[in-house]
Amino acid sequence: MSRPSDQIQATRLAPSPTGALHLGNARTFLINWALARRQGWRIILRIEDLDTPRVKPGVIDETIDILRWLGIDWDEGPIVQSRDMEPYAQAMQCLAQDRRVYPCELTRSQIEAAASAPQEGVHETRFPPDLRPPTRPDHFMDRGTNWRFVVEDREIRFCDGFLGEQAHTPARTVGDFVVWTRRGQPSYQLAVVVDDARQRVTQIVRGSDLLDSAARQILLYEALDLEPRANYWHLPIVVGEDGRRLAKRHGDTRLSHYRSLGARPERIIALIARWSGIDLGSARELSSAEFRSALDLRRMSTETTIFRSEDEAWILAD
Ligand code: GLU
Repeated sequence: MSRPSDQIQATRLAPSPTGALHLGNARTFLINWALARRQGWRIILRIEDLDTPRVKPGVIDETIDILRWLGIDWDEGPIVQSRDMEPYAQAMQCLAQDRRVYPCELTRSQIEAAASAPQEGVHETRFPPDLRPPTRPDHFMDRGTNWRFVVEDREIRFCDGFLGEQAHTPARTVGDFVVWTRRGQPSYQLAVVVDDARQRVTQIVRGSDLLDSAARQILLYEALDLEPRANYWHLPIVVGEDGRRLAKRHGDTRLSHYRSLGARPERIIALIARWSGIDLGSARELSSAEFRSALDLRRMSTETTIFRSEDEAWILAD
């Protein structure tokens, strides 16, 4: 068996083509790319399009084009998740053989009615263990229903490359979560673990809105006995002045919008650099290569980043 230090290091850029890239995603991708190019990690571009009802035509090409415009490149891909569904079904078969999953027709409101009152700040409904059926099938036979994963009641610890030591107990926050959906597709949690393992991803860099998902994903790595295990880096997300996650309500912060107004990518990179603790001096523009050399995660705040109206003026000023 190879020692961890012998392992080829790899990361992935994993955009969901549900809308064009906005400033928040752009920051995560630029940092992910800069870390990878500095540390010699191979970069895979993976398009996470399994959320089909929301995938708009043309967005995949637009996403790729915008990443290139920003000065980001990759070594492999694009790999489009929906083109090969078999690995996810095989993973389900493995989980079923070990009786780790079960079909579940309960609706969200039935689960909510059975669960205790939701705690403040907890948005997901916790699936109470007493709703788990007494027996579980030993094969994955019905792709047209929701399947849940049996979550053991234990604490999951890991060291996040950016946020440090983490301890999460998914049994207390989400309980048995969905791994396969009635649309005949794996859930995000299952798809991401199957893909990260088969694409040999060792470094996962993404927004801290997915921090809670890491413990669920670690449970799936363990249940499926998958290697290599990835390290996680969860970066602060960008919010509007109202403190809410950057979205349409904050105006059009898509990179394609700024590009159509004549903004230069170097100006956007300079804003992302400022948000990432880079001292720009008097510079108003930065190339992706300059960003790569200047980035020092020890100088980056772990607080959420606030996108202000001055920031937009900065991008668009002559
Ligand atoms: N496709 C996901 C997103 O755009 C990222 C998933 C991940 O990095 O694990 O939010």
